[in-house]
Amino acid sequence: RFITLEGGEGVGKSTQAKALAAALRSRGIDVVQTREPGGSEGAEAIRRLLLEGGADRWNARAEALLFAAARADHVARTIRPAVEAGQWVVCDRFLDSSIAYQGGADGLGDKAIRDLHAIGSENFLPDRTLLLDMPVDDASFRQAAAGIGQSDRFEKREGAFHDRVKASFLEIAGAEPGRIRVISAEGTPEDVTARLMDALSDLLP
Ligand code: C5P
Repeated sequence: RFITLEGGEGVGKSTQAKALAAALRSRGIDVVQTREPGGSEGAEAIRRLLLEGGADRWNARAEALLFAAARADHVARTIRPAVEAGQWVVCDRFLDSSIAYQGGADGLGDKAIRDLHAIGSENFLPDRTLLLDMPVDDASFRQAAAGIGQSDRFEKREGAFHDRVKASFLEIAGAEPGRIRVISAEGTPEDVTARLMDALSDLLP
């Protein structure tokens, strides 16, 4: 099975990716935990290109192509082989991040991003996507409190950008309720992990 975690910055995605992988392993499932951009040697090299430099190093179109290229390599080298071998893959961010960030917040539109995904990754899609959702202000407060604000070329985005990302994620989720489940990211980390496991109950062995 292929499971993705999505959401804006500060909602606890990386903490939950780790906790979810551990919870699945405790049920005897063989889990590969990975993240985007990255997750294969080539995609990690593209990640460095994406994160380095100033805010305007790449324009929105070039950036969308780089994310799609990183994803193509990650799917071909890491995700698809693991799923075909019967493992579960838990991935921190995937296509829906590109639809929300480059398609929605940057304004390229979701069709352009889906077309790139068709070319790059043959429309390979998650069996389930867990969208961690909380108010943007609470998420930035959490990041500040944890001292984990961004230190890359994406750090200068303004509040309105994050509002557009959140709105775009919720719109995608509304259009694909079978694949994408919206999960409240509020409460303790243990509460959130339990909600994620509930949202996977029909897929569990
Ligand atoms: O997952 P993480 O928040 O560490 O992602 C690294 C950066 O890449 C973030 O600033 C995120 O907003 C950005 N990103 C993006 N478009 C994507 C995936 C990630 O702008 N498709």
